[in-house]
Amino acid sequence: MSYKDNLIKIDAYVAGEQPDKTDFIKLNANENPYPPSPEVIKAINSFNGEILCKYPSANAVGLVRTIAEYHGLKPENVFAGNGTDDVLSLCFRAFFNSQRPILFPDITYSFNTVWCDILRIPYEQIKVGDDFNINPADYRRENGGIVIANPNAPTSIGRDLDFLREILDKNRDVVVIVDEAYVDFGGITAIPLLKEYENLVITRTFSKSRSMAGMRLGYAMGSADAISALYAAKDSMNSYPVDSVAQAAGIASIMDEEYFQATLKKVIATRERLTKELRLMGFELPDSSTNFVFAKHPDINAVDIFNHLKTKDIYVRWFNKPGINDRLRITIGTDEETDKLIYELKELIAEVSWEKRERALNYGWTDS
Ligand SMILES: *Cc1c(COP(=O)(O)O)cnc(C)c1O
Repeated sequence: MSYKDNLIKIDAYVAGEQPDKTDFIKLNANENPYPPSPEVIKAINSFNGEILCKYPSANAVGLVRTIAEYHGLKPENVFAGNGTDDVLSLCFRAFFNSQRPILFPDITYSFNTVWCDILRIPYEQIKVGDDFNINPADYRRENGGIVIANPNAPTSIGRDLDFLREILDKNRDVVVIVDEAYVDFGGITAIPLLKEYENLVITRTFSKSRSMAGMRLGYAMGSADAISALYAAKDSMNSYPVDSVAQAAGIASIMDEEYFQATLKKVIATRERLTKELRLMGFELPDSSTNFVFAKHPDINAVDIFNHLKTKDIYVRWFNKPGINDRLRITIGTDEETDKLIYELKELIAEVSWEKRERALNYGWTDS
């Protein structure tokens, strides 16, 4: 017997690499390449640090009210936490307490399995189609809850409300979580469905579209009963989750809609340009509704491209997982970063096709 026998044994979530240097292009964690709204920076700079001697508003009342108003909901329908990861982990605790397995796609946010493992929630991963599409008919089986990211990650594919309705209609007796981390970049929000489905809970993050990954802010929206369960889960773990500075910064971000829309527009325009360029180079990728693309090249292994880009100080994401290890998930950066990426990919492809041609020619000579 050793104390080590009782230490946690779990395959923890692995985030995109953060190399210990500053001069590189980081396209591996779906962060926004642009800074948050100047109003956010103003709110932080003018924050009265003296109030830090007091605990923050326990339930982030001001922030929750601002978010609720923004989405046309009531404060009792909103819960704020330290990033969506915090909110989702509390959702798993608060909502998935049956003996039946919860369901989610086999290709989706890889934190799901980690939370299930640590919280000992049974789960079943449902295979997506060859085109990575989720088939709603697969979610008509006994379950203790459902988690769908829409748009999904890392596939970048967004689905419409009919798709969600098909899942929700057959699963009214469990909580269905729709993770909308990327919805602002062109997805379709399930918010209108909250009125119809009491068991629907939607999560959002400030990390991607609001350029605030470093601040750690996320929230959930749902029925008053579901949200109360989240507060109960929170108050059983850590009753003061969102710090005072983050609450002020979050409010400032929501209030600056103009900056928000302008940033989204820039990221989306760059995404469309990158998509076009990648396809011209022979890459295959679904149309993205997110701030990343999910691409494969027929002639070059994804891991080789991944390693090659690293030597050029460009970091993208490669998942060593069957079914998707032939692809790269590439975050949309600034135009300048994207130009560098496109340049390096073109160079690599030219090199590889030149080598291929050489080999073909050599083969031709020895053969004759
Ligand atoms: C980034 C991401 C999150 C978590 O975001 P936070 O930074 O924790 O707010 C949740 N779900 C998906 C699908 C994501 O990509």
